[in-house]
Amino acid sequence: MIGGRRSAAIEAIRAAGGRVTAPRQAVLDAVLDADEHHFTASDIVAAIHHTKQPTDRATVYRTLELLTEIGLLDQLQLDSGAAVYHRADHPHGHLLCNECGSVEELPSEVLEDVVGRIASHAGFVVDTARVALSGACRACAAKAAVG
Ligand SMILES: [Zn+2]
Ligand SMILES: [Zn+2]
Repeated sequence: MIGGRRSAAIEAIRAAGGRVTAPRQAVLDAVLDADEHHFTASDIVAAIHHTKQPTDRATVYRTLELLTEIGLLDQLQLDSGAAVYHRADHPHGHLLCNECGSVEELPSEVLEDVVGRIASHAGFVVDTARVALSGACRACAAKAAVG
């Protein structure tokens, strides 16, 4: 399906009036190939570096913004750190560990109950793809319980 996604993304970039240059394709490929579900612009810069495609950092940033605009990526601002991106094809919330800095995915289904209660309490519609809860991950919580 990567091939289908790739051509769909290229179509979407063109439809948005963008030119599909070699550096942009390199960014797109790095995004589609990322094993890490979450990545920063620096991760993509590093990934492209291996491909020998000359791509400057500004192009990476602009292309990631473009991919966010066309809906391929979601951008998350986690804490005060660098913006983190993830592919938008499977929505989920995030669990941020204050101790070790890990980011875990929280399946949207887990949030359904609380999202429903928030809607009936406040009439507020939660964007579950942008939910980020901070606390201690399982490993850090276990350490805290022992120590
Ligand atoms: Zn994510
Ligand atoms: Zn942790």
